[in-house]
Amino acid sequence: MNPADPRAPTGGLSQVRGRTDEPLSDATVFELLAAAAQRWPQRDAAVFSEQGQRFTWAELLAGVETAAAGFVRLGVQAGDRVGIWSPNRSEWLITQFATARIGAILVNINPAYRLAELEYALDKSGISVLVTAAAFKSSHYLEMLQALGVDADGRSARLPALRRVVRLGDEATAGMLNWRALLRLGEGHEGELPPAGALHAREPINIQFTSGTTGAPKGATLTHHNVVNNAMAVARCMRLTAADALCIPVPLYHCFGMVLAVLACVSVGAKMVFPGEGFEPAATLAAVQAERCSALHGVPTMFIAELDHPDFARYDLSTLRTGIMAGAPCPIEVMRRVQRDMHMTEVTIAYGMTETSPVSFQSATDDPVDKRVTTVGRILPHLEVKIVDIDDRVVPLGEKGELCTRGYSVMLGYWNDPERTADAVRDGWMHTGDLATLDEQGYCNIVGRVKDMVIRGGENVYPREVEEYLFRHPKVAAVQVFGVPDARYGEELCAWIIAKPGMACSEDEIRAFCREQIAHYKVPRYIRFVAELPVTVTGKPQKFLMREAMLRELGLQAQATA
Ligand code: AMP
Repeated sequence: MNPADPRAPTGGLSQVRGRTDEPLSDATVFELLAAAAQRWPQRDAAVFSEQGQRFTWAELLAGVETAAAGFVRLGVQAGDRVGIWSPNRSEWLITQFATARIGAILVNINPAYRLAELEYALDKSGISVLVTAAAFKSSHYLEMLQALGVDADGRSARLPALRRVVRLGDEATAGMLNWRALLRLGEGHEGELPPAGALHAREPINIQFTSGTTGAPKGATLTHHNVVNNAMAVARCMRLTAADALCIPVPLYHCFGMVLAVLACVSVGAKMVFPGEGFEPAATLAAVQAERCSALHGVPTMFIAELDHPDFARYDLSTLRTGIMAGAPCPIEVMRRVQRDMHMTEVTIAYGMTETSPVSFQSATDDPVDKRVTTVGRILPHLEVKIVDIDDRVVPLGEKGELCTRGYSVMLGYWNDPERTADAVRDGWMHTGDLATLDEQGYCNIVGRVKDMVIRGGENVYPREVEEYLFRHPKVAAVQVFGVPDARYGEELCAWIIAKPGMACSEDEIRAFCREQIAHYKVPRYIRFVAELPVTVTGKPQKFLMREAMLRELGLQAQATA
């Protein structure tokens, strides 16, 4: 370790800056794709295993230009909002770059949204053209759109901005255009597209509704500059090159899919492999084997599902080398198993949030192993991070506080929401709501959410720490710890546990495991075994739902303050 590493904090305070030796890029999203297609036209760009489709870089570029011309002929102009509501399919990827080609702002709509959320997202961002899948899992997208009053003209009185709905699949729906018809509209008109070089990298290109672990969704608005530079930085951390193939089971609608996977691959010409529309552990492992992937992304719950799959040992994963685990606390044990059993010796952890495009910290493939499993690595180039107390004062090294990020990666703001933007971004600093610590070398630990901290009888308890401990129990597959109100102690801890398949586990076993090992006030008063944990589509635990369920069970609603 070089003690003079510029990423190390100085003055004993929890504040760090990233390297600046490589300049930031001013490329637009489309320019990244154009460059890859020019350099590697005949190499594989993308494989969609479930759809049975493959594209070379030249084919992907051609499809993008045709779709872009189709959008233009539908009247879409730079700055207009085009929504995409679909699981991981090739049309998603093409729409991402086709909108970027003409400077339209892509609005990602969560595939799990139901009516109220859909209406909110469409209305809030003023989407004029919506590209939609027909259905996904138990969601019938077309029926939901019809329920919002989308009529035979493709319009809805409730959504005045909406002019056109483009649906995927071959069946016809009154008032909607099929995807193929959009492509036919564009065919032969690619030459009429406005020059790609006229776009500016500092313009907004994407609105992502944050995944809602709390409150109403907010539309984080990102520029080309935000996402292109973040993608290039994370690709460098993984040493990704055109020789790599990345397996992408994470959703495209989230920055994990569209930035850390897609744009990172496009920035270096790596092959993108999409195992399926939604996450399936077996399909993911099969895609890694079939396409000889060298990298694999996932949130911790995905890696856990893959490792625990009964057929895990049957897949040849020997080609794997790297990838990113992110999105939620990454249990140390899972990181170790991923390195050992999945051959991902160079796996990295990343930490970030949609509002910061997303990554602020990432471990490097050559960081010491213990730092790569126990921390989220060090700060990425051209960014600044400080950790502050409740009065916004930077805390001494090693102390817990709220992590704030400043630099090129911070979003323009929440779409059409100056109030919540001003609340989140102050003096250029994005206040993340995450609790973190920094060590003397600049490695960061995420210890919880500011709001998740539980105060039991005056003792601060960080649920993350208790989760890490309980996770070491051999029968525990997943665990979430949170606080519930208590008349005597103010709050009490509650643990929700999923036991490993085929293993019965009891409360007493868990308590015995804690006894004499962790402080008494950290031993959960309530322990429940559950079949599943409420998580967002990206695998982020929704503790507020667990808490609500416990309050109902314990009859504590009246005492709940939040
Ligand atoms: P999103 O905007 O959906 O990407 O969610 C961002 C949030 O996910 C952050 O504010 C963190 O709470 C959490 N998160 C992301 N990466 C990590 C990580 N590596 N460790 C712990 N929490 C994480």
